[in-house]
Amino acid sequence: MLIAGNWKMNGDSAQVDAFARDVKSAAGELAAQLLVCVPFVYIDRMGRELADSSVALGAQNIAAEVDAGAFTGEVNGAMLADTGCSQVIVGHSERRALYGETDAVVAAKTTAAVAAGLKPIVCVGETLEQRDADQAEAVLGAQIAALFDQCDAATLAQVTIAYEPIWAIGTGRSATPEQAQAIHAFLRGQIADRDVTLSQSVQLLYGGSVKPDNAAALFAGADVDGALVGGASLKADSFLDIARAAG
Ligand code: PGA
Repeated sequence: MLIAGNWKMNGDSAQVDAFARDVKSAAGELAAQLLVCVPFVYIDRMGRELADSSVALGAQNIAAEVDAGAFTGEVNGAMLADTGCSQVIVGHSERRALYGETDAVVAAKTTAAVAAGLKPIVCVGETLEQRDADQAEAVLGAQIAALFDQCDAATLAQVTIAYEPIWAIGTGRSATPEQAQAIHAFLRGQIADRDVTLSQSVQLLYGGSVKPDNAAALFAGADVDGALVGGASLKADSFLDIARAAG
């Protein structure tokens, strides 16, 4: 299981230090792999604070451009790897909705991540309107299709998928364990249609209001391989409780 924290645009130096201290001391006893994705400016600090622990470091975004150059405000994969990241979140619904990231941009960023030796966590998810209209599978199927159409096999082999229903993100209203498992099975099936071997090895994370009190039930789903945790990853105690629920 992979328990990934997504701090979004939250935190400060003191919070990084406190989180790292508490997580580092507990991480060794946990079976789950832990990953924390902090804002760019705190990656280096978090990496130093977590040094010599098993906790992995990630970013929340990456430039689509592989090579360094005149791209003001962007951060490329080589820089992320150089700063100690092993993973990066790509295509979070907030980036799709607020920053105009299309499926093509998400695929380009996924490819750029793997080119830099990073493992991308590609987010997919449907809106409440789409779910209510019975379109969740169609929307998710199209997001997976776009990824497979635009990324090569070597890239896809490195991808982790995070199913994050948009209506569950930051709302306190998680998908039920049954809803999460049903979509995860659907996603694995979509991948199996294209690559059976990959469908067996790909990690499928659930994200959207994962908390210590609902994590174990969500993780019971046969196709749920971990979680992408937003709000509850900001404090070490709730993040660690979710990780403990992963067994
Ligand atoms: P949440 O966010 O856990 O605060 O709902 C999850 C995410 O957006 O990754």
